[in-house]
Amino acid sequence: KLAKLDDIVSLCKRRGFIFQSSEIYGGLASCYDYGPLGVELKNNVKRAWWKHVVQMRDDVVGLDCSILMHPLVWKASGHADKFADLISECKKCNTRTRVDHLQDKDGKRADEHTEHVSLDTAVATEHDLSNKVCPNCGAVGQFTQPMPFKLMFETQMGANAEDSMTMYLRPETAQGIFANFRNVLDSTRVKVPFGIAQIGKSFRNEVTTKAFIFRTREFEQAEVEFFCEPGTDEQWYEKWKAARFAWYTDHGIKAENLRFRDHDPDELAHYAKACVDVEYKFPFGSGDWQELEGIANRTDYDLRQHQRGMRSTTSWFENGRDLTKVKMPDESEDYHKGPLSFFDDQKQLRYIPYVIEPSAGIDRSTLAFLVDAYDEEEVKGETRNLLRFHPSLAPTKAAVFPLVKKDGMPEIAHNIANDLKKYFTCFYDEKGAVGRRYRRQDEAGTPFCLTVDGQTLEDHTVTVRQRDSMDQVRITTDQLRTYLRDKLEM
Ligand code: ATP
Repeated sequence: KLAKLDDIVSLCKRRGFIFQSSEIYGGLASCYDYGPLGVELKNNVKRAWWKHVVQMRDDVVGLDCSILMHPLVWKASGHADKFADLISECKKCNTRTRVDHLQDKDGKRADEHTEHVSLDTAVATEHDLSNKVCPNCGAVGQFTQPMPFKLMFETQMGANAEDSMTMYLRPETAQGIFANFRNVLDSTRVKVPFGIAQIGKSFRNEVTTKAFIFRTREFEQAEVEFFCEPGTDEQWYEKWKAARFAWYTDHGIKAENLRFRDHDPDELAHYAKACVDVEYKFPFGSGDWQELEGIANRTDYDLRQHQRGMRSTTSWFENGRDLTKVKMPDESEDYHKGPLSFFDDQKQLRYIPYVIEPSAGIDRSTLAFLVDAYDEEEVKGETRNLLRFHPSLAPTKAAVFPLVKKDGMPEIAHNIANDLKKYFTCFYDEKGAVGRRYRRQDEAGTPFCLTVDGQTLEDHTVTVRQRDSMDQVRITTDQLRTYLRDKLEM
């Protein structure tokens, strides 16, 4: 059965996957908390990503940067000047909404953020404004000309009014990677081609948030910046596309719910050579294809920009305590020899590497894994709700039950659970009828339930019940760990 978003939201609340933030105070819009099962699921998604892009590769290393960075980072990256949405206000009720279809005066199109067009010249298309319906009062064509709305969250650093400086919460993790490119080259044995990977929180003051954890103001990203020699970038782009698509299907997403969408040339950021979205068929409204991850060929743009930014000599107090107001120095003529260049000793060649960037959202993929795993089926006239998670993502790997609370069964079951807990998440439950206990675990996505019963007392075997098929086999207790480890692909 196809999941509807409401089914997912209610299951998430009922079983402790995801709660509204600050719910006891009425909730905070577009902010969510991961509950006991949710945090396990999300950690598993992150672990699976890290395993695939770092642990199992020889050419990618990890990094964990601070969220607050030097403000010049955001000047050089272009975020300070261009990372904004255009918003329009309803003249009747003052509701502000994001204008999605933009073009600048040369007709260059931009569907989303104005990183594609300059804030000064961006205007909404006539068609968009005259047909726009206010989501609040329903008025048609009553919108003002769009105005830029900065997406970066601002804060102040420093205890005293005189020396405090405007800082920004990072809107993406990628810039911390570029800022550490030289550090990683100098401290490890990596050589181009290689990548740096990072998972971490990012913040965007989104105008319109959407669909549960799909678009929120605080979210987690998993990004790789893969540095390669110019001229090899197109091959690496294709390799990363294939690797990232396979990651989703290998972890249980049905291939028919996943597709690539290439960006049109006029949709590309000016520095990007190519960009493709991995899209998932989310159950919003009419079953919308929506971006899960973007994979871009960013050329040498970012490293070149940071080389420019590094040469800036202006101080914060000359710029109203906001360093993003400084003018960026021009690019030097010998930029390709700068500190963020790479020297290939074999080829005796110095260049600024090109960058392939697979940029995924952890919360968004967690939602996709939940939606894709959701199922309802009829079993003996009753509805069985289950989450068919890939074993590596399942929050709890095994649940252990004594059939009844007597004859030493609880003790044996406890011992089994405590032993398995050393290796993976395991849950002990002795309350209620065993059928009910199975159903609870099905709904939590637990792949295996182990039951200690009368026969266990005689031959040291327990029943192992498989979540998806509900098949049962008997396994001796000393074989359990190896049996489960193989099945769980751990
Ligand atoms: P969108 O247009 O959907 O806001 P984007 O194109 O701005 O996304 P990118 O800047 O390419 O997104 O960020 C890379 C990934 O980070 C996205 O594919 C998405 O999975 C995730 N992401 C971006 N913004 C958000 C958000 N507000 N909430 C949750 N995840 C996000």
